[in-house]
Amino acid sequence: HAKENGKNTLSLFEPAMQFKVEKRVELAKDLRDGLVNDEFILFCQPQMDALGKLCGGEVLIRWQHPVLGLVMPNEFIPLAEQTDLIIPIGEWVLRRTCEILCEWEQNSALKHLTLSVNVSVNQVLASNFVERVLTIIDDNGANPSLIILELTESLLAEHVEDIIFKMNELNKRGVRFSIDDFGTGYSSLNYLKRFPLTELKIDQSFVRDIPSDKNDAVITEIIITLAQKLGLRVLAEGVETEEQLQFLLDHDCQYFQGYLFGKPSPIELFAGIAEANSAKLLYSFGKR
Ligand code: C2E
Ligand code: MG
Ligand code: MG
Ligand code: MG
Repeated sequence: HAKENGKNTLSLFEPAMQFKVEKRVELAKDLRDGLVNDEFILFCQPQMDALGKLCGGEVLIRWQHPVLGLVMPNEFIPLAEQTDLIIPIGEWVLRRTCEILCEWEQNSALKHLTLSVNVSVNQVLASNFVERVLTIIDDNGANPSLIILELTESLLAEHVEDIIFKMNELNKRGVRFSIDDFGTGYSSLNYLKRFPLTELKIDQSFVRDIPSDKNDAVITEIIITLAQKLGLRVLAEGVETEEQLQFLLDHDCQYFQGYLFGKPSPIELFAGIAEANSAKLLYSFGKR
């Protein structure tokens, strides 16, 4: 480590770091090619209501890299954000989402389902964000009220007026907003009353150890209460066990997402499963 070599030395060209830089440059080039060659794929993970009925899904991007295979978003979204490639990638995700909503509109088993889409800070801060989103929605004739855009808290710490304005513009057309990973960012409760929000998503790091971890249990309870009192929907992420679900139901959580109900799958497969199960509750809460 450079730090261990002496107090004031920082060797920028440490071999390992050089390797990393080269890898990043290579990956950024691959990302650009990936867009041109249509290598991205949409996965979707089910979201359930408190009756155990499927109410929508979260759209999650994957990258089918020609050599590396299936690459997860945590491995390329941060790089995309640093290189501005997040703009075209984000637009691709939204365009595909709108196309899928239009396909589903023809199908009585699917047409009520909402799709939640992750949006990066840099996308929202781009000057033409509102126009770009509305153009993509209108080009496809998608129903904007089935789209929920997920933002992270850190976004809302700066450029407050600009972001409120943009959210309101999209809100007027029916597009809704959710705070992703709630409770993990630079939490300022101030934004909750200022931003036109529809939903809070309780981060999976809180859900993971409920009910045994008393601190996580209290935090989860308080987020649910906070959302209720502010008139917002509340969704728990990362629900994996019956015990977690029971705790969340006991505390009046309204919506759920996690491996207990289904892992993310290619969105065509998701639609097939949703259609096949539309007559019954996908996950019966009735026994409880
Ligand atoms: P996120 O938006 O918080 O998405 C939830 C992540 O948790 C997903 O990981 C999902 O597969 C995973 N997950 C869901 N249920 C469970 C569970 O029960 N247990 C556990 N351990 N994990 C669960 P994924 O798909 O790898 O996505 C990671 C992150 O990448 C997302 O976190 C989101 O921040 C980002 N991302 C994904 N797609 C997009 C996109 O299209 N655009 C942008 N800007 N970011 C995206
Ligand atoms: Mg998300
Ligand atoms: Mg999340
Ligand atoms: Mg996350």
